[in-house]
Amino acid sequence: KIIYTFVLELLCFILIFRIMKFNTKTIHGGQKIDPAFNSVMQPIYQTSTYAQKSPGVNKGFEYSRTHNPTRTALQNSFASLENAKYGVAFSSGLAAIDAIIKLLSPGDEVISTNDLYGGTFRLFTKVFEKYGVKFHFTSLHNVSDVESLINENTKVIWAETPTNPMINIFDIEALSIISKAKNLLLVVDNTFASPYLQNPINLGADIVMHSATKYLAGHSDVVLGALMLNDDEIAEKLYFIQNASGAVPGPQDCFLTLRGIKTLHVRMQRHCENAHKVANFLTNHEMVEKVYWPGLDSHKNHDVAKKQMSGFGGMLSFRIKDFNKEQTIKFLEKLHLFTLAESLGGVESLCGHPATMTHASIPVEEREKSGVTDSLIRLSVGIEDIDDLIDDLKNAFL
Ligand code: PLP
Repeated sequence: KIIYTFVLELLCFILIFRIMKFNTKTIHGGQKIDPAFNSVMQPIYQTSTYAQKSPGVNKGFEYSRTHNPTRTALQNSFASLENAKYGVAFSSGLAAIDAIIKLLSPGDEVISTNDLYGGTFRLFTKVFEKYGVKFHFTSLHNVSDVESLINENTKVIWAETPTNPMINIFDIEALSIISKAKNLLLVVDNTFASPYLQNPINLGADIVMHSATKYLAGHSDVVLGALMLNDDEIAEKLYFIQNASGAVPGPQDCFLTLRGIKTLHVRMQRHCENAHKVANFLTNHEMVEKVYWPGLDSHKNHDVAKKQMSGFGGMLSFRIKDFNKEQTIKFLEKLHLFTLAESLGGVESLCGHPATMTHASIPVEEREKSGVTDSLIRLSVGIEDIDDLIDDLKNAFL
């Protein structure tokens, strides 16, 4: 009877955890009751090392750079959110990106977008080019542009969609067709969409990357990075790099991220609703020249966004007619609820001036070519009351 009950419970467990819907995965995905005291919430294992009975005889944990139970729980949650077999956690989004490029060798080439997050661009060009990895930056809209850059040294297509800050949308499925045909790795930075709105692995990507600092953790209280993937061999290499290079998050940060993830679906729903209303308000404002939000019919990639995303997200950018840099900065200074700050994806609304903030590390010509001009403003629309957010914007236009 004991064996029968055990097998039945095991089958139920497998069934429930395999077929969980997204809104259940955020809370339970990859999680187990902690065996020590049956605590429902994952404990913070604030320890660097673990007692061994005899050399090499341990409970699966030896040293916290290599493994830590709180980090393991977070990695399992990451994998579950993106329908992946493996999740790998890093001490920041950039550390996660760094680990992927460390899979490459001198002479290898990467094709990426010319509208890339400034920190990723800086890491590629200022760190890895020195070690002989070559990067090409192009628009990923046109598959033939991408194809024309592929040669025998090309190893990775690096896509970010939606992009930061121009909110361009690239067709992940179309990129995955070329990457598969040419035996390349397709990496998608899914930070802006979050797994609630888009699952790149389902669309053919090989590795998904997140700055978990943003929507995943969701409360602007942690810096953390995530990779999710299915390939056994690449996962082994990434876990090796995670341990060998040592850019691991501490247990407290893993706990905060796990806690944030539990409300990801509810927060994202409100982020999308509020952003929709802010986008409509700005579109109808006589002083606004252009709004970049993929849910608008006027967005040039609206159809692709509709095809691959289940909603349009909380990030948008806009330009005010004839404003120069000083006027744009003055507008930002007049906002109160939208806090002028780097970062995005937290519960609170933030505003930013990409040209002098997030994208200051990109040379002016490159930056302006991609649309990041001095009059561009980026908003991370939070989950406050929408009337208060609109009033804040109205006041800043006065
Ligand atoms: N990717 C995108 C799209 C980002 O916006 C950021 C940070 O803003 C990063 C990567 C880097 O992540 P982190 O700041 O966690 O290192």
